[in-house]
Amino acid sequence: MGELLDCIKPHVRELKQYSLKPECVRIKINQNENPWDLPQSIKEETLRKVAEYSWSRYPTFSAHSLHEELARFSGWKAAGIIAGNGSNELIQAVLMVTLGPQTRVLINEPTFALYRQISRILGGEVISVPLSPQLTYDIDAIITAINSLAPTVTIICSPNNPTGCLIRREDLISILESSNGLVVVDEAYHEFSGQTVVPLLDDYPNLVVLRTFSKAMAMAGLRIGYLLAAPQLVQQISKAVLPYNLNVISQTAAQIAIERYRTELTRLVGLICTERERLYHGVNEIRGITPLESFANFILVRSTVDPRSVFDQLLKREILIRDVSSYPMLSDCFRVSVGTPEENDSLLGALQEIYG
Ligand code: PMP
Repeated sequence: MGELLDCIKPHVRELKQYSLKPECVRIKINQNENPWDLPQSIKEETLRKVAEYSWSRYPTFSAHSLHEELARFSGWKAAGIIAGNGSNELIQAVLMVTLGPQTRVLINEPTFALYRQISRILGGEVISVPLSPQLTYDIDAIITAINSLAPTVTIICSPNNPTGCLIRREDLISILESSNGLVVVDEAYHEFSGQTVVPLLDDYPNLVVLRTFSKAMAMAGLRIGYLLAAPQLVQQISKAVLPYNLNVISQTAAQIAIERYRTELTRLVGLICTERERLYHGVNEIRGITPLESFANFILVRSTVDPRSVFDQLLKREILIRDVSSYPMLSDCFRVSVGTPEENDSLLGALQEIYG
């Protein structure tokens, strides 16, 4: 196989595939999903509408009415929006139109692993700024790196996966003002922080915001994300998005969910935040583990027991968590998503047994 793989770019061969082993479990708290499914009524309305559409035809070229709906939903102009097949697709699109050999992307680590993965595949150089020892943004280090290395793109995941830290508005403004390049803020978890940087789009044309329907919006299975930026930038980034990227079912479901499910979603997000605080205090009371403050729907936990063994012991009890011990700075950590109150109780009970 040696010769065959010579066709693959050497820096791609060096990478490990980004993947997750499927596990069938009672309590699945490894991917930061919403523990509550969309109501049956929304699914049924979606399917009814989709059945009226001719499946032999392509969707409209650009998801125009969804963009209009997203504009009302997010408070940004439709011409500055791209809907994507998950926000993953849009991370890829932004990096495709900006990165290549001799260009740099700045990320904070530990963070969502895909930024580094896609950047390396595209041949860009990754500048990695470590989070502070408290696992929050090291703003001085970020600005110093921006000033000295002039990255084409800086990616800030806020709230950050997997640490849960949030960037302060004034710190983001300092980063935006220091950067000649684009500053991408991945707001996949923003609903759980009660904050958004979207209002800054008016003043900072180099800001790009990414959002998803996979977390608070409870639609990870349908793969919907969106990007908000200056219309001029959106025109360029759109060149890297595949035609008809968003299928009819996902487009329809997204529109219906925005129209009909908003109030209920806000209630569920509130409930998840309340549960996050309860889970935090519960974990904090168990000797041997320490939770980190989180602005998202998950909590990073430091552990005196090897996280791989905690993962295995929880899996035996049919609880699936994320072992993040291979991430930089996190060799003693695992991550748990906030589940339903019953799921959180089961997790706390299991942790008490493991550390008892
Ligand atoms: N950004 C962050 C920070 C994430 O954690 C994830 C998913 N884990 C994504 C983006 C991807 O989300 P999507 O399902 O919209 O592709």
